[in-house]
Amino acid sequence: MLLEIKDLYVSYGHIDALNGISLNVEKGQIISIIGSNGAGKTTLLSTISGIVKRKSGRICFEGEELPSEPHKIVRRGITQVPEGRKVFAGLTIEENLIMGGMTQKVRDTKEIEKRMFELFPRLDERRKQQAGTMSGGEQQMLAIARGLMSQPKLLLLDEPSLGLAPIVVKQVFALIKDIRDMGYTVLLVEQNANQALKLSDYAYVLENGTIKMEGKSSDLLQNNDIISAYLGEKK
Ligand code: ATP
Repeated sequence: MLLEIKDLYVSYGHIDALNGISLNVEKGQIISIIGSNGAGKTTLLSTISGIVKRKSGRICFEGEELPSEPHKIVRRGITQVPEGRKVFAGLTIEENLIMGGMTQKVRDTKEIEKRMFELFPRLDERRKQQAGTMSGGEQQMLAIARGLMSQPKLLLLDEPSLGLAPIVVKQVFALIKDIRDMGYTVLLVEQNANQALKLSDYAYVLENGTIKMEGKSSDLLQNNDIISAYLGEKK
């Protein structure tokens, strides 16, 4: 197992955000976490990447307890692509990628950057453009490419479809599938349950900081409780 979380509790002061979460991420898979606003999805990702401190519980990565400092966690091979994209708006696309590759040797950065431009031809066409002037979909692509620059063993994606037009959402999800097919492992947080379940191998349903249900994504897509609570008309 690549990532194993056991009985994770997180609070912000007196607000309990995660109340005993346990989950597993297997290498080479897309695992999705679905749930409505405030369920604790972002908190879960930010706790894995060390930005938010846990109250208790274990997070093991490749069989070893994760360190608590974010920079050490990145070096262990976990990179988070934050919600809302958060590219460096004043820097060019190329400079954003270089920032993402800071943990790599300079020689390797060039090679990985080349691969990113092959994977994202749209970014290649615009490599000198300021990131802040790109469309929402392009910025999402850049945020993902920047995350991949560190060659993570586990990529944490926080709501990549947020605020994007339906056709762009489809492109972004197709891209995430390509990334999985290239051998990356992805932990995907999404409010767009329909698309996330279609894409992922396994899924967890988060409600009020606890896992309400888990299973193969294809099974959850057929589950009546999931359909009425999260899929509605979209199915
Ligand atoms: P969304 O889909 O709306 O982003 P989410 O599932 O990602 O929601 P979180 O952002 O993890 O949910 O929030 C979980 C709970 O923790 C919420 O009740 C939220 O108000 C609270 N919370 C999140 N961040 C903080 C913070 N920095 N300080 C205090 N409370 C917080």
